[in-house]
Amino acid sequence: MQVEMLKPVMDTETGESLPGMAELIRTELCPRVVSIDLKGEYPREFMHKLGAIGGFGAMVAPQFGGTGYGLKNAIRIIEDVSRECVSTGFMVWAQYACAWYLQNSSNLAIRRDVLPLIAKGIVLGGTGQSNAMKSCAAIEDNRLTAKRVDGGYLVNGTLPWVSNIGIDHYFHVGIDVENEPGLLIALVKGDHPGLTLNQNAHFIAMEGTNTFACNFKGVFISNESVVSHPSEFTQFKSRTKAAFILMQMGMGLGLIDACVSMMKRSNKTHGHVNCFLDDQAETIESELLAAREACYRLADKIDAMPDANHERETLALRLAGGEMSLKAANSAMLHLGAKGYLVGNAAQRRVREAYFIAIVTPAIKHLRKELHDIDTGSCACTA
Ligand SMILES: Cc1cc2nc3c(=O)[nH]c(=O)nc-3n(C[C@H](O)[C@H](O)[C@H](O)COP(=O)(O)OP(=O)(O)OC[C@H]3O[C@@H](n4cnc5c(N)ncnc54)[C@H](O)[C@@H]3O)c2cc1C
Repeated sequence: MQVEMLKPVMDTETGESLPGMAELIRTELCPRVVSIDLKGEYPREFMHKLGAIGGFGAMVAPQFGGTGYGLKNAIRIIEDVSRECVSTGFMVWAQYACAWYLQNSSNLAIRRDVLPLIAKGIVLGGTGQSNAMKSCAAIEDNRLTAKRVDGGYLVNGTLPWVSNIGIDHYFHVGIDVENEPGLLIALVKGDHPGLTLNQNAHFIAMEGTNTFACNFKGVFISNESVVSHPSEFTQFKSRTKAAFILMQMGMGLGLIDACVSMMKRSNKTHGHVNCFLDDQAETIESELLAAREACYRLADKIDAMPDANHERETLALRLAGGEMSLKAANSAMLHLGAKGYLVGNAAQRRVREAYFIAIVTPAIKHLRKELHDIDTGSCACTA
């Protein structure tokens, strides 16, 4: 499989993750955060505008419409967005997760025709890989199954939740193929014949993420829509997994940073009593700085050595990110007190967002299982 190297950069002169990033967040995202949270507003315009300034391009080579700035830049962008809104940060991650699989596809037509649209945010997209990842870790069975037919595969099954999608969006899924080891990774569009998107669940914190249940009934996936065939799966997975997971750290780093700021602000008036709480702003801040440094360092290492095994280090860091998010949001809530209990206040939103970081695949329990499996040599990958 021929994959182009990305070129890690960069801190812009202003220290921004991207030129124009701070302004875009201030004008287009900040005013909508409460509506996104409480009314489930989908920030479509923000996503398109972020794409236009290169916000989804870091994990895509320039020849396919990306900036090629690399994993650290992708994490920084997700972090910047999540500092204001983890719901939107999650969608930025989803768009990246979509692009990253396409970037690593052996299917040149997909890289040439679809990837630039995703990398530039002209078309939005996501990933339906949670179930496949959990099936690889022997947590649950794969809910999508396929059999080979002339010119492709026939797919059936249901995924309960896929975010940042819709009729005109793309997403990829991992599918068990009859009598074949390894998973099929397929790219589908929301209006693919045989695919139905249902929005019959409502969520706390994440209602603005355009999350749908996806029902596949006799969906024909032609070879042209295959991101990776089952025979390519082992190599595809080892090449993509670490970056796919490490990018989620952006959500945690941004959220924890916002919680530290809230605690410090509260201490200006209530420091004399906040000092009796277990987790102080300074302690959480120093843990944040250490986690951020470790995350950026690992991101550079993954970019520099994409074929090396970074799995254990990535899983351990992602686990720490989830645990720290819960601790920081909990402490911020306790610092804010009754004020944090108000409907529009960020403190209670941060608590709900932190739980999402802890439960989205790979969830804390999933990460602990995979680490246990690696450490005890009982790796249970079924695919
Ligand atoms: C708001 C939101 C957005 C998400 N976005 C995505 C996404 O973009 N892509 C993606 O792949 N995954 C997505 N997920 C799924 C997520 O990553 C987890 O895989 C999911 O929350 C289940 O993991 P778990 O650890 O809770 O499962 P476990 O605790 O291991 O098991 C819970 C089981 O119950 C099932 N279950 C529970 N409630 C329902 C229900 N209402 N309908 C059907 N099955 C149910 C689950 O599927 C699972 O099998 C999203 C989840 C949420 C809540």
